[in-house]
Amino acid sequence: MGALEVREGFTELYGAEPEGVWAAPGRVNLIGEHTDYNDGFVMPFALPHVTTAVVASRDDGVLRLHSADVPGAPVELRVDDLAPESDRNWTGYPAGVVWALREAGHEVTGADVHLASTVPTGAGLSSSAALEVVVALALNDLYALGLKGWQLARLCQRAENVYVGAPTGIMDQTASACCESGHALFLDTRDLSQRQIPFDLAAEGLRLLVVDTRVQHAHSGGEYGRRRAGCEKGAALLGVDALRDIPYGGLDAALADLAGEEEVARLVRHVVTENGRAERVVTLLESGDIRSIGPILTEGHASLRDDFRVSCPELDLVVDTALASGALGARMTGGGFGGSAIVLAESSDVPALTKAIEQSFRDAGHGTPRVFEAVPSAGARRLA
Ligand code: ADP
Ligand code: MG
Repeated sequence: MGALEVREGFTELYGAEPEGVWAAPGRVNLIGEHTDYNDGFVMPFALPHVTTAVVASRDDGVLRLHSADVPGAPVELRVDDLAPESDRNWTGYPAGVVWALREAGHEVTGADVHLASTVPTGAGLSSSAALEVVVALALNDLYALGLKGWQLARLCQRAENVYVGAPTGIMDQTASACCESGHALFLDTRDLSQRQIPFDLAAEGLRLLVVDTRVQHAHSGGEYGRRRAGCEKGAALLGVDALRDIPYGGLDAALADLAGEEEVARLVRHVVTENGRAERVVTLLESGDIRSIGPILTEGHASLRDDFRVSCPELDLVVDTALASGALGARMTGGGFGGSAIVLAESSDVPALTKAIEQSFRDAGHGTPRVFEAVPSAGARRLA
């Protein structure tokens, strides 16, 4: 759905003109998985897929929320009544943003919101962050709050962690808020310092495919929380604030210290090696050598599959088939247990590669995957 149609939807729903139109993208993560709650490094880039919000402010304490992607009338809430974990529906995400802004002392006195998205939901492409960030940006503008992208990302993370009750890291919201077209975002999740890294695939004759397995993940489910708790335990046992503090060169010593803690040791090994991979990828990209990141992506997949254990048969099948069909590298992206994989390939190999992946899913009796090209795109912005 185009921005104009979403705008018309607002007028039909609320019988009034909106004050503006905003968009925030979904993202894929190039490297740095399950590092963002360990104070580590991540490197997402924004997708061309966006959530669009058409919004008008209100001064009567009423918050009305509607999504073109969810059937039904607008949901009406009162900003004074917003309370953490009170809303298990989709409206918890935007309501959580209003709650987080108000909690932080920003005077947000209501809004009429109409949304529509082209970001696939539950595919590991961060439709939840796109939804939060677009609402936060709209309210930031309408209420002249003057918050920067990284500050909005923090508030959106708080909305998702505390209001929705999903214990996710800071990557998704920062990616949606801060990414730039033609770049990947190298983010240090400890201090939120950022570097925009040129990532122009087309200029190098390369493509990056996203393969959505259509296996639905459940982030707020127990597995994610269990990995997170295991990482915290590892940091505590090793006497550091976060696993980020274990340098790659200190891995062997750390693993020796964790003798008898097999599960924790595996988690630690993934996080430490993954931070190392993120640093290697950023060095290669800054030297203009995109092709050489391929094997590092593949290494990252093996680590997520064997050490962190968050892959699934469908994701492994994408990676194995892509590599057998000439891809330069491939890995699952996002939290895992389903969702999407990314594949780096020569442009000329893409048609055969796509066919091979689709065929492998048919042969294995899996549903049809959704394959599309990911072009590094712009972060959240006002459209009108
Ligand atoms: P992901 O962020 O990987 O897509 P999540 O489980 O974190 O998966 O978030 C998906 C949830 O976000 C959906 O189940 C829904 O509640 C909400 N959501 C995302 N986009 C929209 C939308 N356009 N309209 C309504 N709800 C949405
Ligand atoms: Mg999400």
